[in-house]
Amino acid sequence: MEQNYQVLLYYHYVTIDDPEQFSKDHLKFCKELDLRGRVLVAEEGINGTVSGTIEQTQAYMDAMHNDPLFKDMTFKIDEADGHAFKKMHVRHRPELVTMRLEDDINPHDLTGEYLEPKEFYERMQREDTIVLDARNDYEYDLGHFRGAIRPDIETFRELPDWVRENKDKLEGKQILTYCTGGIRCEKFSGWLKREGFENVGQLHGGITTYSKDPEVQGKLWDGQMYVFDDRISVPVNQTEHVVVGEDYFTGEPCERFVNCGNPDCDRRMLCSEENEYKYMRGCTHECRVHPRNRYVEEHGLTEEDIQQRLEKIKEEDGVEV
Ligand SMILES: [Zn+2]
Repeated sequence: MEQNYQVLLYYHYVTIDDPEQFSKDHLKFCKELDLRGRVLVAEEGINGTVSGTIEQTQAYMDAMHNDPLFKDMTFKIDEADGHAFKKMHVRHRPELVTMRLEDDINPHDLTGEYLEPKEFYERMQREDTIVLDARNDYEYDLGHFRGAIRPDIETFRELPDWVRENKDKLEGKQILTYCTGGIRCEKFSGWLKREGFENVGQLHGGITTYSKDPEVQGKLWDGQMYVFDDRISVPVNQTEHVVVGEDYFTGEPCERFVNCGNPDCDRRMLCSEENEYKYMRGCTHECRVHPRNRYVEEHGLTEEDIQQRLEKIKEEDGVEV
């Protein structure tokens, strides 16, 4: 496969005075370069993923580094064999990471200790360490650091409440946090410190950087990493591949994501092709028979087809449908 494309992942906390105007100008600029991707702009900074040819992405990085605001911004670069997005969006948002904290955290003032991949790898294996995944549940389910805690939450913004409810598990421990590119941990680790946890470390540059480190080579990562672009998942551990993902319906090893066919539900679930066929991509009976089930539409299933598949589910799973 020819890898003439690159995917850039980046963020930078820096004050942007007129984020609305900046967003408009930045969209124009990205389009001129023929980039595709998703960029969030807030008064507190920028967070983006864009894809393009090596030349286009290099021109983007050069231009950003020439701007005094972003001269220190780190780009994580993935090779790719095509665009990772269909369109180019630049959106103005009140915050880069939705945490909805009572008092916002400025990572320049308060954040956890930055740990480079090797340091993180070593500390992760110590007795008194708790590794906390700072991502959403479906991201954890596809892959995570071995032994990391999966907070019982659906989205990142529920994390503060979870921490408060589980304080006894965390107190007195060295807490290590990690996320995809590092941006969520900047605030989350700062928030943990403000909550009174003293020993808080964050994986600098996130899993993306960890996976590329020539020394640790993604070790102690099980499964794959969920990414927010068309690739959906990417490998992390270069030394072994342990599948931890489980099929939503059968619990069998699985690393294939689909969204529930019911557009109102849209649940992200791991699901084999076989089970997608059997369950018509519906996470529940209600979603399967939903009048706008996208699977049914895409495959042009007739009422008779649907009845047949429902019968089969009843027969094989022994459930009343
Ligand atoms: Zn559903």
